[in-house]
Amino acid sequence: MEIVLAKKILKANDQMAQAIRARLESAQILCVNLLGSPGAGKTALLEALTPRLKTAARFTVIEGDLATCNDAERIERAGAPAVQINTEGGCHLDANMVTIALDTLDLKTMDLLFIENVGNLVCTAGFDLGETLRAVVLSVTEGDDKVVKYPPMFQSADAVIINKMDLLPFTDFSLDRLKENMRNIKPEALLFYTSARTGEGIEKLAEWLLSNIKKNK
Ligand code: MG
Ligand code: ZN
Repeated sequence: MEIVLAKKILKANDQMAQAIRARLESAQILCVNLLGSPGAGKTALLEALTPRLKTAARFTVIEGDLATCNDAERIERAGAPAVQINTEGGCHLDANMVTIALDTLDLKTMDLLFIENVGNLVCTAGFDLGETLRAVVLSVTEGDDKVVKYPPMFQSADAVIINKMDLLPFTDFSLDRLKENMRNIKPEALLFYTSARTGEGIEKLAEWLLSNIKKNK
């Protein structure tokens, strides 16, 4: 019975995600679903990207969290508009929550929409939010084995952002092993190497986003 219920929930979510996708396409908005564990650096990356993207694109961030508005406040301090969704304990965002957040936004004044998902490498992968692209943030402190331990997440990724590169020398994280694992699981996914703290790789990531905004017009 539970399996049937789970399938029904996902089917309803997929239909809603399709409606979001159509809405964003007609408004020519590139939507990036940003996923990753708690503490991988999703918000820090958005903070680092904001000054670079702000001059070239109009963008908004939807922040998903169990509680608190901390991340949305951080984004606004960095200089971009943000909307907070509190899932009240829920471990992922779904298309219904994103629809409610979208209703509060003026889609005519936007080129790019980031959705920072709840920190979680498991069930967030199963919920389509109507995004154009999926980017998974993996920090080097988490270990290079996460790709093989959480395959659905990394199989669904258009890009994997290896973050906290400044800490690489202090960890056992192997970039070669990570690349090999990604080649086996999702060879076409792009890999980025960043440090939100030092700014390493942020320019490349911003360029990728801007070129996708252009493609989307
Ligand atoms: Mg965050
Ligand atoms: Zn969940």
